[in-house]
This record gives sequence, structure tokens and C-alpha cells, in this order.
Amino acid sequence: MKQSVKRTILWLVLVLAVAAVLHLTGNRQKQPGYVEADSGSRIVMGTFARVLVVAKDKESAVETIEAAFTELKRIEDLMTVHRESQVTLINDEASKHPVPVDNDIFYILSESIRYGELSGGSFDITVGPLVQLWKTAADTNTPPTQEQLENAQRKVGYKKLVLDPNNQTVFFAVEGMSIDLGAIAKGYAVDKVVEKIRQPSILGAMVDLGGNIRCFGKPAGGKEFWNIGIQDPHVEASDVTTQKTIFTLAFKDEAVATSGDYRRFNTIGGVRHSHIIDPNHPEAESKLNSVTIIAPTALTADALSTAVTVMGAEKGMSLIESLENTEAILITPSGKITKSPGADKFIKY
Ligand code: AMP
Ligand code: MG
Repeated sequence: MKQSVKRTILWLVLVLAVAAVLHLTGNRQKQPGYVEADSGSRIVMGTFARVLVVAKDKESAVETIEAAFTELKRIEDLMTVHRESQVTLINDEASKHPVPVDNDIFYILSESIRYGELSGGSFDITVGPLVQLWKTAADTNTPPTQEQLENAQRKVGYKKLVLDPNNQTVFFAVEGMSIDLGAIAKGYAVDKVVEKIRQPSILGAMVDLGGNIRCFGKPAGGKEFWNIGIQDPHVEASDVTTQKTIFTLAFKDEAVATSGDYRRFNTIGGVRHSHIIDPNHPEAESKLNSVTIIAPTALTADALSTAVTVMGAEKGMSLIESLENTEAILITPSGKITKSPGADKFIKY
């Protein structure tokens, strides 16, 4: 068989296989000149991922969606804690000697330290020992003792994370430390996908990784904006399928992330404990139910939504107001909503 025929058949098989899981939603009669493709939900990095693209043609749309998931998988492989990865290597070895890491990990660690400083230590990827302690407490339904908390706290603190930019290594100054990238890795991954798929054949796209969302360019559905619903934190977890939204945000080229204790928490002795921990007061209850951050990048939105959850409304809002192009919408357990001055321009209804 001729090479060109083989290539055409291969191409057809690929397009048909991928089209089986894509919903090609473009109505080319009504909106000539482009197509829309929606990956639907797929599980990556322990959460649901969805990519929507508006492309010049069907082939670019299909290829782009697959390229996006290849990138997500690459980042998952680097950062997972469920099998061997650079992160598990750091956690196993960095107390003994400096561990060389690649560019992605070095960048995310450097940014994590920067957000640690910006938030006065509220954002801290070295919370690993505390996260572990609360997990064990939930498994055994016994709250940790003061001594256990203090013991874990000694191994926590981003200042004990030593980065060497010349050798691109990471070292733990205290034995037993561990990093947890759960508060920043998804945002980073979304940015990397956007970097990959911003091609001339792609007119616009939205990438959603577990509520860490970034969009750019021409919105889907022939609309003027990308519309993103923010869930009502007071709807019971069992009602999540109803997707009750409290706000709809309208974006052109922004990122958004929501952190909160309304979906993920540990229940110990009948008391709810947030999965987000204040490194300085690990026994404290969280002050905010839901924190939505709008920012230019998904990494910023992800890191800041976690940071502000720990900082609380007052300190959190003054941090947000000190940063350019960054907005916040906070909801307290009693349902009180606080918005930064620029947030309203993104709220559609
Ligand atoms: P997010 O959903 O982005 O707010 O991230 C929450 C996850 O980040 C938790 O499940 C922990 O794995 C981790 N984490 C908890 N507390 C902190 C903290 N204070 N700083 C950074 N990461 C944290
Ligand atoms: Mg986060």
C-alpha cells in the first residue's frame, strides 16, 4: 500500500476514534468558518478534566484536545503521589541529600515559595506531615493530640525547603518533611495546557481541571464571553449533580479557581475539618466556606484561592487588593459574600 494511502487510513481511524468520545458541537451552517469540540469529562490528576476548543477545522480541534490531555498526563506523571514520580522521589530522598529535579518541578517549587512569602506562611506546600496527620485522624476517627500536632508542625515550613537554582536541586532542612502540591499543581497544569494549545488554528479554548479554569479567545456557542458558574457552597454535597450556581462569571482571557471546605473535608468525631490546613494553627476551623479567585493565570488563581482560605476574609482581601488584575469573591459559613472592588465586572448574574 502506498505511504500516502496508509497515512490517510491511519488519519481516518484516529479521527473516527476520537470523534467517538468527542461531541462535535459546532453548527457549521449557522456559524461558518469554525468548529467547536468538547472533550467531555475525563479523569486526570485525580479529578475531572474538560477541554473545549473553538478551532478553524475539525482536525485541529481533535488534535488539540488530544494534545491537551497528553500534556495533562505528562504533568500527572511528574507530580503524582500514587506511584513513583519526581514528587515521591523528593519526599523519599530530599532529607538525605539535594535531589535534582526538572524545569517543571523547579518552577512550581519556586512559585510555591513565592506564594508562601506573599501569604505570610498561610500557603505552604510543606504541609505534607499535617495533611497526613489529619488523614490518619479521619481514618481512625480520633483527633490528633497536641503533641502530635506540634511534632508535625516542626516538619512544616517553606523556609525549610532549600532550592538551589544553580544545580536545580531541592533539599529538606528537617528530616521527615514532605511536600504536597495539591493546592497549586492543577493550576500549573492548566497553564501548561493553554501554553501548548494556543496555536493559530485554535480560535479559543477553555480548560477546566477540577474547577481550575482558564479560557482565551473566541468563546464557544457564538457567545461574547466564556460563562463559568460558581457553585453555591451551601448546597449539600449529595446535591452536587444539580450544579446549583451562586454566580455566573463572564470571561474573555482569564483564569479562575475556587477553594473551599464544602466538598472536601474530614469528619472526625462528628466534627468537620477542612482539607485546607492553616500551617500555623493546624487545629483551627476554616473561616471561609468558598474562595473564588480571578487572575491572569490558573497557577495564580489556584495558589491564591488556597492561601486566602487560610488567611480569612480581612487579611486575604488586603492581599488580593494589593495584586494587579486579581479579584476575589469570598463566602463565609453564614453565607456572607465579600467581593474585591473589581470583581463585579466579571459577574454576569
Ligand atoms: P485547593 O483545593 O487548591 O485549595 O488545595 C487543597 C489541597 O492543598 C489540600 O487537599 C492539601 O493537599 C493541600 N493543602 C492543604 N493546606 C494547605 C496550605 N495551607 N498550603 C498549601 N497547600 C495546602
Ligand atoms: Mg489551590
